[in-house]
Amino acid sequence: MIKVATIGYPRIGPKRELKKALEQFWKGEIQENELQNVAKDLRKKNWQTQKDNGVDLISSNDFSFYDHVLDAICLLGAVPKRYKWDGNEVNLKTYFAMARGSQTAELDVPALEMTKWFDTNYHYLVPELSKDQNFKLSSNKPFAEYEEAKAAGYNTKPIILGPLSFLLLAKGIDGNKTINLLSKILPVYKDIIKKFSELGAEWIQIDEPILVKDLDTDVVSQIKNTLNELKAAAGKSKILVATYFEDLNEDVKQEVFGSNVDAIHLDLVRGTKNKNYVKNSNKQLSLGVVDGRNVWKSNLQEKIDFIKSNISNDVIISSSCPLLHTPYDLDLEQKVPAEIKRWLSFSKQKLQELNVIKNVIDNNSHQEELNKNTADVQDRKTSKLIHDDKVKDRIKTINKSITERKSSYVERAKIQKGIFGLPKFPTTTIGSFPQTTDVRQARAKFKRGELDEKSYNKFLEDKTIDAIRKQEEMGIDVIVHGEFERNDMVEYFGEQLNGFTFTSSGFVQSYGSRCVKPPIIFGNVSRPNPMTVRWSKFAQEQTKQIVKGMLTGPITILQWSFVRDDQPRKYTAQEIGFAIRDEVEDLEKNGIRMIQIDEPALREGLPLKRKDWKEYLNWSVDCFKISAAVVKNETQIHTHMCYAEFEDIIDSIAALDADVISIETSRSRMELLTTFEKFKYPNEIGPGVYDIHSPRVPSADEMKQLIQKASKLIDPTRIWVNPDCGLKTRAWPETIDALSKMVLAAKELRKI
Ligand code: GLN
Ligand code: ZN
Repeated sequence: MIKVATIGYPRIGPKRELKKALEQFWKGEIQENELQNVAKDLRKKNWQTQKDNGVDLISSNDFSFYDHVLDAICLLGAVPKRYKWDGNEVNLKTYFAMARGSQTAELDVPALEMTKWFDTNYHYLVPELSKDQNFKLSSNKPFAEYEEAKAAGYNTKPIILGPLSFLLLAKGIDGNKTINLLSKILPVYKDIIKKFSELGAEWIQIDEPILVKDLDTDVVSQIKNTLNELKAAAGKSKILVATYFEDLNEDVKQEVFGSNVDAIHLDLVRGTKNKNYVKNSNKQLSLGVVDGRNVWKSNLQEKIDFIKSNISNDVIISSSCPLLHTPYDLDLEQKVPAEIKRWLSFSKQKLQELNVIKNVIDNNSHQEELNKNTADVQDRKTSKLIHDDKVKDRIKTINKSITERKSSYVERAKIQKGIFGLPKFPTTTIGSFPQTTDVRQARAKFKRGELDEKSYNKFLEDKTIDAIRKQEEMGIDVIVHGEFERNDMVEYFGEQLNGFTFTSSGFVQSYGSRCVKPPIIFGNVSRPNPMTVRWSKFAQEQTKQIVKGMLTGPITILQWSFVRDDQPRKYTAQEIGFAIRDEVEDLEKNGIRMIQIDEPALREGLPLKRKDWKEYLNWSVDCFKISAAVVKNETQIHTHMCYAEFEDIIDSIAALDADVISIETSRSRMELLTTFEKFKYPNEIGPGVYDIHSPRVPSADEMKQLIQKASKLIDPTRIWVNPDCGLKTRAWPETIDALSKMVLAAKELRKI
C-alpha cells in the first residue's frame, strides 16, 4: 500500500497573499489579528488543496511568518540577548525584530544574520548560540497549528526542524562548537514530541537535511542516539526523519537506518546513492520521487517502475524535498506558451503526479492520467523548441583556444596600463545606480503599454546621462552606465536569449516576504541579437572617460533560473557561456574597452558534497572563460562577486583569469583578505570598501584604513577602490555622499 505525503508545502500564498499581508502589517496598515487571519486562511487552503489532490499525510507547521529556522529559534527559546526577550512565549514583535531588526526607542537592534539554505536560493536566519546557551520550550505555534488543522478535520503530520540541523546550521558566538549543546537541547525536543504525541499526532516529521552533508565523525557518532531519544519520547506517534537535497553518505546511512525511528525520507532525485538504500530496507521509507526543486513534469512510468521493482511492502511517496522551492499552481499560469506549459508541474500538480503513481500501482487505475503524462514527457523529448543543433555543435568545439586569453595576465596588464593611463588606486562602481521610483514607474508603464518605446528610451537615456555626469563630477575613474534599463540582472538577459521562458505565477520564496520568479530554461540557449550594446555604446558616446560594459555571467544566470533537467547543467551553462561570449565580442567591436561579467552566484552553485566540488569548479570556471576569453589583450575583463564565503574557492576565482575582480569584503572588515596571506591573488582586485546594504555612510578615513589594510597583503599597484556591490537599492543622496568620500580616500592614498 502506498501513502502520499507532503513533506512541506509552499507558504507565501498562491497569489503571494502572505507577502502582501506582512508588508501591510509592517507598515502599520493592518493589525496583528488581520495578519493572523490571512495566515489562518492560507493554512486552511493548503490543507484543503492537499486533501483534494489525494494526499494521505498532510503537513502542519510548514507555515511560517518569515522563516522556519526562526520559528525553531522561538520554539526552543534561543532568542539572542540583544532582542531583550522577556522569556515568555515569543511574540510577533520579538519575532520580527530578529527577522528584520528594530529601530524603536525601546529596541534598536539589527536583524539576525541571513544565509543561504543549503544550495537553494532560499535564505534562513542564522541562530546564534553561546557556550552556556539554555533552551526552553517558548512557542506554542506548532501545537496551535496542529490543533487548528484538527479542528478543520485534518489529523496532520507536524514538521519540526531537527536538533542536529538546528545546531549545525547555527553559529557559535563565542567560538564554541554548537553540536556540544546537543545534550542541552534534546530535553526540549523530547518535550515537543511528547506534546504532539499527547495531542494525538499519528506521524511527526523531524527535518534533518544536514544529514546529507559530509559530517565529522564526532557528529556521525551521535546520530543514532539522538534519533533514539526522539523516538523514545514519541509514545504512540511515529517518527519520520526527513533528509533531502542529496544522498546520505554511507556512514550516516548506517546510523539513521540503525536507529529506532519509524520511517526515513530519502531524496531520490538528487544524487544517485540513495536509490541503493531502497531495496530490502529494514525501515519504512518515504521516497522523494518527484522533484521538489524544479518545475518539470516527472516521467511517471519511470517512477512507477522503480517503485514496483524495489518495494514490496508499505511505502510513502512524496516530493524529493519540501515544495517550498516550487511555485504553487500551474493552473494560475497565464504567460508560459501552451506548448511549454504542457511540460511543467508546480506544487499542486506534483501532488497530482504522486496520486497517479499511487493509484496506478495500488489499484491499476488512473491509466488515462498516466497516458497523458507519458505523452507530455515524450512531446518534450522530441520538441523542435528544445533542440538547436547549431548550439549543441558549438559546445563540442570547446578547447583552449576558446577558454584562454591571447596572452598571460602579466603581459595583458602591461599593455592595459599603457593604454588606459589610470591613476594608482583607480575608483569604480559595481554597475547599478539607484533604481528610484521614477525608474520603476517608467518601466511598469512601458510594460503596460502606457509609455511608448521612444519615450521610454528617451527617459532611460536621460537617466544614463545624469548618472554619467554625476560620476564625472565625483571624480570616479571608470564609469558605468547605471543599469536603469534592467529590472533584474538575470531576467534582463533571459528575456533576450533563446531557450528561456517566463511565468506570470512562478514565484518562490527567497526570504521573509521576498519572492523571486526565476526564468525557466527549457531549450538550447543562444543569443539572437546584441543585448546590451545599445546602452553601453550610448553611454560611451557621452563621455571621454572609460565606460565599463556590464554583463551577468553564465553561472549566475544558470543558478538563478529553473534549469532544464534533460541534459547536464554543465551543458546548459556552456551554452549560456557562448551567448555571453557573443555579447562580449560585440561590445568590444563597438568600442567598449572594459567589460565586467558578474558572477555573484559562483559560490552558491558549489555542490553540497566536497567530492563533487572539483568537477563543478572546473566546468563553471571554464564557462566564465568561454564568455570572457574572446577579447583582445587590450580589452580589460572585470568580474564581481559578493556575499558568500570565498575562502574555499579562492583558487578557482583566480583561475577565472579576469584582469580585475571587485569583491565584497567590508562587512567582515576585510576578513577575506586574510585568505590572501596564504594565497597570493595574481591579478588586480577591488576589495569592497563599503557595505551597500546599509544606508550608513562611512567616513573617508574608514575607507582609507581598509585600503591600507589591503595594501599590506596585495601589491598596491594592483588594488582598485569600489563599493561592495551595485547601488540599485540605495538613494542618490547617500550614494553621492559615500562615493565622494570613497574618491577622496583614494586620492589621499595616491599622495602617500
Ligand atoms: N552589476 C550588478 C549591479 O551592480 C551586480 C549585482 C550583484 O552582484 N548582485 O547591480
Ligand atoms: Zn554584488
